[in-house]
Amino acid sequence: MLRIEDLHVQVGDRTILQGVNLHIRPGETHVLFGPNGSGKSTLLGAILGFSRYKITRGKIYFKDEDITHLSVHERAERGIGIAFQRPPVLRGVTLRDLLRISGQGNVVNIEELAEPLNLVDFLGRDVNYGFSGGETKRSEMLQLLVQNPDLVLLDEPESGVDLENIALIGQAINRLLQKDGLLGEERSRREMKEARKKAGLIITHTGYILDYVPADVGHVLYEGKLSCSGLNPRELLGCIHKLGYGECTRCLA
Ligand code: ADP
Ligand code: MG
Repeated sequence: MLRIEDLHVQVGDRTILQGVNLHIRPGETHVLFGPNGSGKSTLLGAILGFSRYKITRGKIYFKDEDITHLSVHERAERGIGIAFQRPPVLRGVTLRDLLRISGQGNVVNIEELAEPLNLVDFLGRDVNYGFSGGETKRSEMLQLLVQNPDLVLLDEPESGVDLENIALIGQAINRLLQKDGLLGEERSRREMKEARKKAGLIITHTGYILDYVPADVGHVLYEGKLSCSGLNPRELLGCIHKLGYGECTRCLA
């Protein structure tokens, strides 16, 4: 689904990513950990092609096509979607308007998707205007459900969200990752994994979301590169708690 080779990315005049390699197969969900400012959001931004992230070396392949130089909308059209860490407020654009645009070509019932996220009453409001932290994050999930991408990039989906709403967001993520879109709570963790055809990359600091979303592989972004890749995300989180981001390689031994 996604293959990144030797990716170097510059932001402003600083090189943030210095040789990132990553391979995500269909059906897999990967988790990205890393200290503040290590470049996690930069990596997601580079995968989607935002102009502020300048790729100076390396390649990004999506479904075996080199997308390194495609525009953001071309990447979105091919099936890459993102939930932002800090989504912008869009004055003058209602959530329903935005959902109609992002769902173009997909037959979806917006109300039906908004209902389990408790967002039906928000459809007529301007996007994220006056929304709480949790409401903003749920609105990001709803936009992704409507867009229905094959590769789902989630930048700290649970940050600033209370425990009950983390459960709602977890269910939305499970729904996003499955081929038939059934709600996660209706299935066991094993069934959820087996039903997957899509791929995910989730950034999390706390790992709370892993209580709801079964994930396959964890990585740590540290000093511009991925390290400690391969461990189960929960094991890796435990290891980071014990040894810190820079020393997690000791857990691989
Ligand atoms: P993370 O998501 O891991 O916390 P980011 O990818 O957001 O980290 O940021 C990586 C680094 O890039 C940070 O040090 C941040 O300050 C820097 N950065 C982000 N945007 C800019 C910019 N426009 N100009 C210069 N530096 C930037
Ligand atoms: Mg970030």
